[in-house]
Amino acid sequence: MSILSGKGKVKLNGQKALTKDKPILSIEAPDVVYIPLVLGMATDFDVHVKEGDHVCIGTKIATRKSMYVPIYSSVSGTVKGIEKRMHASKRLQQHIVIENDHKNERVKAYEVKNPDSMSQEEVFNAIKELGIIGLGGSGFPTYIKYSHPQNIETILINGVECEPFLTSDHLAMKRDIKALFDGTQYLMKAAGAKNAIIAIKEHKPDLMELLVEEAKNYSNIEPREVPDRYPMGWERVLVETVFKKEFDKLPAEIGVIVNNSSTAIALSKGIRNGEPITHRVVTFSGNGLKNPQNVEVAIGTPVNYIVEKLGGYIDDDCDGFLVGGGPMMGKSVMNDTFVIYSHNNAITVMKKENIQPLPCLKCGECTLHCPAHLQPVRIMQGEKAGNVELIGKLDVERCVECGMCTYICPSKIEVTDMVAKAKRRYQLAQKRKA
Ligand code: SF4
Ligand code: SF4
Repeated sequence: MSILSGKGKVKLNGQKALTKDKPILSIEAPDVVYIPLVLGMATDFDVHVKEGDHVCIGTKIATRKSMYVPIYSSVSGTVKGIEKRMHASKRLQQHIVIENDHKNERVKAYEVKNPDSMSQEEVFNAIKELGIIGLGGSGFPTYIKYSHPQNIETILINGVECEPFLTSDHLAMKRDIKALFDGTQYLMKAAGAKNAIIAIKEHKPDLMELLVEEAKNYSNIEPREVPDRYPMGWERVLVETVFKKEFDKLPAEIGVIVNNSSTAIALSKGIRNGEPITHRVVTFSGNGLKNPQNVEVAIGTPVNYIVEKLGGYIDDDCDGFLVGGGPMMGKSVMNDTFVIYSHNNAITVMKKENIQPLPCLKCGECTLHCPAHLQPVRIMQGEKAGNVELIGKLDVERCVECGMCTYICPSKIEVTDMVAKAKRRYQLAQKRKA
């Protein structure tokens, strides 16, 4: 079955109204920030600062070793050392601790002499040195996609944001519409692409109007609406919806590179102002918060500090369910002491509901709706039986943990959790074999 058939895609209750019409609230950084030495799954970093060092906003403080990515201080102040703290990944991870002097001193992380006449190589270097990464949630280093671009026709900007509750990209695009187009042009330059498409979900007239207006200044950037279906923001589904073509491993096979809208905005700000990714817009939403809103905060700000600034939880004792990310693909987190990281687009807080799952009805709904064409119910059975061979045969590695199988399950079984566990079990078994 092809993704193009439309099966596997569902219209969700977006719950976007909770935040989409409220302005982005800029929150002053706290007295201490904790910059995580984690990027995606990677934790291998060279640290360039030591206790007592003075830093500014934009000082390079560490570099990822295995795949070069620099990270920068989000406040000015004094380095206090390195501390292990609970991270959104639910693991204790190293964080660089910086005491904020609240002077907001800045340094340019990267200087571009002629931003209006950059060569392809210069744009590539800027992407790399500014530490531009996938801000839609992946954290993948952007320059890797542009290392050897061949026959790239189109840059596809993903502004779809299909998860319920999330509106951070929506508001950032509206606020930074010029930077969005400017960054898109730089990405086109980096790839040698002829044109670009900025894709957003249908039924967003406020944003579409702005995009159409700004696109009049560009002959080669086209705003495009895509259906309001989940998981339209998944790269594979989006590319195949927009281009009516399928690819095997990477969209580059059909001449396309995909980047998130906030990534394009960050690149423009980096090249024009020398600003690396030190702050970001994050959606704080869900029925467990008194005042859901988008906030702009320094990377390394603790979640509980932001929640307090927003007026707190519905239940004062925080008897809620906290998710790092959106409710479909995010990961539940035990408490609210972890910090905002660079590719963290949302925190969702839901009131606890006492839902007792029923036995599996063998209805097949999870299989019917899986966008990766897997059989979640069978993988779940394989996981329960600890049958690594079976879950391997069922292609568990192709699961993108989109949350659809849990969402659709009439028995309220946490199918996605079981499939994710099976995936980890299988990957561990493969590692042991190697
Ligand atoms: S979480 Fe995995 S198995 Fe479940 S629907 Fe999504 S891709 Fe399919
Ligand atoms: S959707 Fe739920 S009840 Fe139906 S087959 Fe899948 S796991 Fe079983």
